[in-house]
Amino acid sequence: MRAAQIARPKGPFEIVEREIPQPAPGWVRIKVQACGVCHSDSLVKEGSWPGLEYPRIPGHEVVGVVDAVGTGVPQWKTGDRVGVGWHGGHCGYCDACRHGDFFGCQVAHRITGISFDGGYAEYMVAPAIAVAAVPVDLTPVEAAPLMCAGITTYNALRNSNARGGDVVAVLGLGGLGHLGVQYAAKMGFRTVGIARGKDKEALAKKLGAHHYIDSQAQDPAAELQKLGGAKVILATVTNGDAMSAVQGGLGLNGTLIVIGAAQSMQVSPLVLIGGARSVKGWYSGTAIDSQDTLKFSLMTGVRSMNEEYPFGKVADAYDRMMSGKARFRVVLTIP
Ligand SMILES: [Zn+2]
Ligand SMILES: [Zn+2]
Repeated sequence: MRAAQIARPKGPFEIVEREIPQPAPGWVRIKVQACGVCHSDSLVKEGSWPGLEYPRIPGHEVVGVVDAVGTGVPQWKTGDRVGVGWHGGHCGYCDACRHGDFFGCQVAHRITGISFDGGYAEYMVAPAIAVAAVPVDLTPVEAAPLMCAGITTYNALRNSNARGGDVVAVLGLGGLGHLGVQYAAKMGFRTVGIARGKDKEALAKKLGAHHYIDSQAQDPAAELQKLGGAKVILATVTNGDAMSAVQGGLGLNGTLIVIGAAQSMQVSPLVLIGGARSVKGWYSGTAIDSQDTLKFSLMTGVRSMNEEYPFGKVADAYDRMMSGKARFRVVLTIP
């Protein structure tokens, strides 16, 4: 098979011939149809994930078809349309797993495209426990970005304390934020898009936002307070100052949910104390969360805006994603 590997930290993408992998007991093999290119793939490319073994095939927004099944896998059969996201498996018996905190598994917490080879290839193998069913009515290109960007925003919002009609703001209108606005609107929240510049307003409204705040021209915290204060602010940006600037827009018992990997941010204890407000992070989710994301997206029409690249142009696709100019997710198609 053809695969795009990184042979060493900061090395280039190399398209190589590899043996088609065989699924071990408890694993399945997937014939890959599409794989999203996510900013976290830079952890492999740049070598910033401690202990990562090279060569490594990145890719954790994978959609394809099961084409071989290892022993001890009752839940999948060849021909099933499936996807794999960031969460690449867990043991099921450690204390974290027994509490249902599979993302904190201490024994076999795997990450797709990091702990094992991912979807920048014609075939990949994945633990059966990490596989999600993909509805046939979603194309591979539509479904792929939902396996990371989609699940992260959808799952953060549905696990928040916001209820229908509450004010929910989404900070940033990029790869994560343009999905977050759509999910928030479809979940029935009074949805506020926050971004830099007047020119993003039309996009925010098109995605379903009821209000738009231009953080360059307006104080986003003051504007949110005019709406009664936000129950949730979903921070999708990677700029800590931008996150700090919105916390004053939280209403009573409001939560700033951080999913953008900023280096640091300032939090005001007085803001937290005075309104029983909180700041928390959110992890993407497991395979069933991906499956729920896809079903909700199909039901409500939520889709990412994608730029498609053929597999052979993987280096261009990666550069485009890293440039920050893609509108909004980059997806590799693999024939
Ligand atoms: Zn990702
Ligand atoms: Zn575990």
